[in-house]
Amino acid sequence: MKFDSIVIGGGMAGLSAALRLAEAGQKTLLMASGQSALHFSSGSIDLLESDGDPRTALPAFMAEHPDHPYSKVGLTNIEASLADLQRHCQEQGLPLFRQETNHQRLTPIGTLKSTWLSPHTCACLTDAPAPDAILLATLEGFRDFHPALAAANLATHPRFAHCHIMTGEIRLPQLAEFSRNPHEFRSADIARLFDKQQGDQPDLLADLAREICRIVHESSDPGCRHVVLPACLSLGLVGPRLAELEKRTGCIIKEVATMPPSLIGMRMQEALKRRFLALGGTFLTSERVLGARYEGDRVIGVHSQNGDDQLFEADHFVLASGSFFSRGLESRLRGIREPIFNADVLSLEERDAWAGRRLFDHHPFMGFGVKTDDTLRVMRGGKPLTNLYGAGSVLAHYDPIKEGSGSGVAVATGWQAACHILAGV
Ligand SMILES: Cc1cc2nc3c(=O)[nH]c(=O)nc-3n(C[C@H](O)[C@H](O)[C@H](O)COP(=O)(O)OP(=O)(O)OC[C@H]3O[C@@H](n4cnc5c(N)ncnc54)[C@H](O)[C@@H]3O)c2cc1C
Repeated sequence: MKFDSIVIGGGMAGLSAALRLAEAGQKTLLMASGQSALHFSSGSIDLLESDGDPRTALPAFMAEHPDHPYSKVGLTNIEASLADLQRHCQEQGLPLFRQETNHQRLTPIGTLKSTWLSPHTCACLTDAPAPDAILLATLEGFRDFHPALAAANLATHPRFAHCHIMTGEIRLPQLAEFSRNPHEFRSADIARLFDKQQGDQPDLLADLAREICRIVHESSDPGCRHVVLPACLSLGLVGPRLAELEKRTGCIIKEVATMPPSLIGMRMQEALKRRFLALGGTFLTSERVLGARYEGDRVIGVHSQNGDDQLFEADHFVLASGSFFSRGLESRLRGIREPIFNADVLSLEERDAWAGRRLFDHHPFMGFGVKTDDTLRVMRGGKPLTNLYGAGSVLAHYDPIKEGSGSGVAVATGWQAACHILAGV
């Protein structure tokens, strides 16, 4: 089986590369062993933690960190990659919000996290003043969002000092089936119930709208028009469902990501996958790549767990297999390892030096990963493999948590890897 390009990994980095390649007309195969970090993420795209416009802060940041993946992409291309992501999401009915500075998205525990792009349905604090009253609601029996905890944390934020923050609990008898087994009472189970509503069934959305009206009416501020719900109303595009709820209740209704699984991230993954397929790409799931065959300094093909004898061949390859979380990197007693190509990795010999002493200290292991040259070509045995590019959290020299750069790096490096491939053909 021969392709123009093969992308290994179905997370943000792999999808970003694959979309660019497929859109340019390349016969592109994406191979993914399983879920990506998107299934656990907020669905927001962090670019760089910064008080003002992160794009203004990036040149100084790159000058200070010449080995950082952003420095191998450059500001113009970082911006172009994010604009492309917005366009692809918009195309799939998932518009992303951004302003000229980072905005703050509400987290499930009621803290505010700085980010660059968020799905339009997310509860975010923008440059506009916070509302005078807000109601954080959950569904009775649902364990993955706790409005009281979120409200207590949100109330400590200076921009909510004037805001009347209330909580409420929605009761839907249709969810009783989950109370028998609380392990099934997860956001995805509730979403499936909404998604499979048929015309002849009692209208779940109407009941939800009635319940929202009730808890607003019974709250200490019945004039409140801002309601936040846990993200559990659809596995697919939730925009139309929220719009219908807003029409029925007269409230502005936004979502907050729950504890994992995160439907907001899963929707983004699915939207980008749909877009890739629409562009003619081939997506293989449950396809763990185990190793590669080489000709000199070129990769000629990869083989997967489904058969050593089947070689997936291509002119170019992108390694976007993620970090430790997705097993793109493996941690061993004496160091870390990239398991597919045995690529050169940045690590520290002394294991005690891998982590800081306290949870919020700097942890050097976060910056471990695959080494690349200036054009993102993966290093192996001290030399670049000429047709294998690295992208996303498998890469060395960046710390997504400390920098607030997680998906921004994934999107930008995936896009840039594809650009190098396209420039070379
Ligand atoms: C739990 C969690 C939450 C996060 N939340 C956010 C957030 O809210 N915002 C943000 O900006 N950043 C967040 N991040 C940072 C995250 O690193 C980036 O956002 C980004 O999603 C990483 O994308 P990636 O494609 O590099 O890796 P991943 O998303 O990890 O994807 C790797 C892919 O490679 C596949 N794979 C691995 N090995 C193989 C193999 N051998 N063969 C085939 N496929 C393979 C995996 O199945 C997966 O599909 C989060 C990270 C984690 C771990």
